[in-house]
Amino acid sequence: MMEENLPEDLANLSELDEKTLLEVLTRRFTQNLIYTYIGDILVAINPFKYLSIYEKAVSERYKCHEKKSLPPHIFAVADRAYQSMLGRLATGPKNQCIVISGESGAGKTESTKLLLRHIMELCKANSQLEQQILQVNPLLEAFGNAQTVMNDNSSRFGKYIQLRFQNSSVKGAKINEYLLEKSRVVHQDEGEQNFHIFYFMLAGISAEDKEIYGLLDPTRYRYLNGRFGQDGMVQTWCVKYAEVSNAMDMVGFEEQEKVDMMTILAGILSLGNITFETTDSDALKVSEASRGWLKATAGQFGVQEEDLLKSLTCTTSMTRGEAIQRLHNQQQGRRDSIAKVAYGRVFGWIVSKVNELLAPKVDWDVELNEIGILDIFGFENFAVNRFEQLCINLANEQLQYFFNHHIFLMEQKEYKEEGITWETITYKDNKPILDLFLTKPIGILSLLDEQSAFPQATDRDFVDKLNSKFKTAPNFEVVRNHTPLFTIVHYAGKVQYNASGFLEKNRDTIPANIRELFINSVTPLLSVLFAATISRTGTLMPRKAKLQAAEDNFNSTRKQSVGAQFKHSLAVLMEKMFAAGPHFVRCIKPNRSKQPDQLDSKLVMDQLRYNGLMETIRIRRDGFSWRPTFREFSERYNILLLKPDLPLDKSSCMSILNSTELSGWKCGSSRLFFKYWHQEELARLLERLGRA
Ligand code: ATP
Ligand code: MG
Repeated sequence: MMEENLPEDLANLSELDEKTLLEVLTRRFTQNLIYTYIGDILVAINPFKYLSIYEKAVSERYKCHEKKSLPPHIFAVADRAYQSMLGRLATGPKNQCIVISGESGAGKTESTKLLLRHIMELCKANSQLEQQILQVNPLLEAFGNAQTVMNDNSSRFGKYIQLRFQNSSVKGAKINEYLLEKSRVVHQDEGEQNFHIFYFMLAGISAEDKEIYGLLDPTRYRYLNGRFGQDGMVQTWCVKYAEVSNAMDMVGFEEQEKVDMMTILAGILSLGNITFETTDSDALKVSEASRGWLKATAGQFGVQEEDLLKSLTCTTSMTRGEAIQRLHNQQQGRRDSIAKVAYGRVFGWIVSKVNELLAPKVDWDVELNEIGILDIFGFENFAVNRFEQLCINLANEQLQYFFNHHIFLMEQKEYKEEGITWETITYKDNKPILDLFLTKPIGILSLLDEQSAFPQATDRDFVDKLNSKFKTAPNFEVVRNHTPLFTIVHYAGKVQYNASGFLEKNRDTIPANIRELFINSVTPLLSVLFAATISRTGTLMPRKAKLQAAEDNFNSTRKQSVGAQFKHSLAVLMEKMFAAGPHFVRCIKPNRSKQPDQLDSKLVMDQLRYNGLMETIRIRRDGFSWRPTFREFSERYNILLLKPDLPLDKSSCMSILNSTELSGWKCGSSRLFFKYWHQEELARLLERLGRA
């Protein structure tokens, strides 16, 4: 009865329409069954409450288990990735990647943490390394997450965590981070907060340290919107601060580095309180009232007050009226860009430090295999969408493409080539949208770079260029407006972008005197951060290489734009992922109010639709997800006939398969076609043989 009404695998549904799909998921959800399979894909609905399904005893059961034998679970995905990496399940690449997708608040980061935890359990990591790897998350979350309208712990950066293994044991890890939302440091919209670390620090730091760092009453800081702890969170933050501090020790940060980091954060807060006023001669200067903040900032950044002043106000000239207002905005913009660049560097430094500490300590020639977990920001569509949203949504397009490619494109192409009878399943191909962004020389990003290279060009010019190039493109819509707007029809819906600030954000140049200011800082960490050139991969280069690179930068090449860097890092990521065995977790957000036990049917339906889950169910039900060649198959399973010297060809494959009770597979012209569960049945046969 239960079985029939609440299938654990939607690919087994014989009748299928959107209504049934929604009904099954809803019924399961009301019984706290948040996980459901579609074949080998896991659908996870955020419960917004604690469920006792993650205990040690549960994770014990999901070790080297057979998928069908236990209810759907995130631990099962971890187990499968791990077993696949060890080559225990199937033929195919050793490296694995787990792609987690979903809207903001759908549960991607929580899923990532559960996956990491279970993989650590599986590989019985040595306890120090295991602790280090697990402690990275609280650390990164403190500096990279913030409370937003959508999610109290929203990741404001994307990450790809790669666990590196030698045989079955973990040897280290590497993290790639993408597009930290630096603008949050200086501005947060209504109902949102700055990065967690500021609140944790202010709540958790001792009175003496507060004095040392020069921290004052938290409600005085403009970058925190003058608000602090009205929601009774101070106690929680205090505990979190201790956690972060502890995590830093565990991962291996030195005391001085921690002190430097906190001092820089304090400096950023003071900096935000510096304001400007007009002088008698109609120039601008730092306001009398904020002289104290100027002094404090200089102290915290370890720089001379005059130097800081100069780098804040170097463009002063005599101006009147409207021009003064513009200048005023410029000065504030300068102040804010110092804050953003300083915070961005601290974050980048933390990641590169973590990577240094967790780098595998093995000989160069040892082959390492990887399991990567991708947790990036979900698709975003706000009232106003800026450059950040454009990049985020591009990344999501790329992921959707990766998903489509694996699930629909490759699979169906093979059926055709191999002569398998097959009724084509259509899906929404988003390649045209990707091309719109990435094609050279006339994709959106290339046009943006082209415009960014002209100092005189405006955001309006950029949009005019887009309009003239793409007015007939299928996924582009021209918006007639004073404001530079344009619309893109993404796979997940239409998004209108406001291009104001696009060129500036794409250039992201640090004025030379700001760099100089920080290089001369007596705070060792600051001077290192700014002397260092961050390489394209985001890692800090050794000093000698740095100086060379810095020189090269000055002499010949221009710094790469943000768009170009992002495009590059996406390309690197995709190359890695396309070469790995993929695993998909699709997170679904049940309601917008972060409440347990509530499921908003329309919201869920929308997510199922744009994720293409209906089509996915069909292809998983009718399709064959495991497709080894005759050679691959016989190489591995000839042993089942106890005749290891059989030829690696079709006839051997047939003999093997006919000797088993496997059914439902198909034979093509060069390979075999199996359902995902066939892998497990074969693995069981091998195991039985091993025991005999
Ligand atoms: P963003 O894109 O904003 O970073 P996200 O998809 O990473 O969002 P999470 O931060 O993982 O979302 O989840 C949001 C919140 O939902 C969590 O802070 C937690 O309260 C709750 N949550 C998510 N998954 C689970 C789970 N498996 N069990 C209990 N609560 C969960
Ligand atoms: Mg997240």
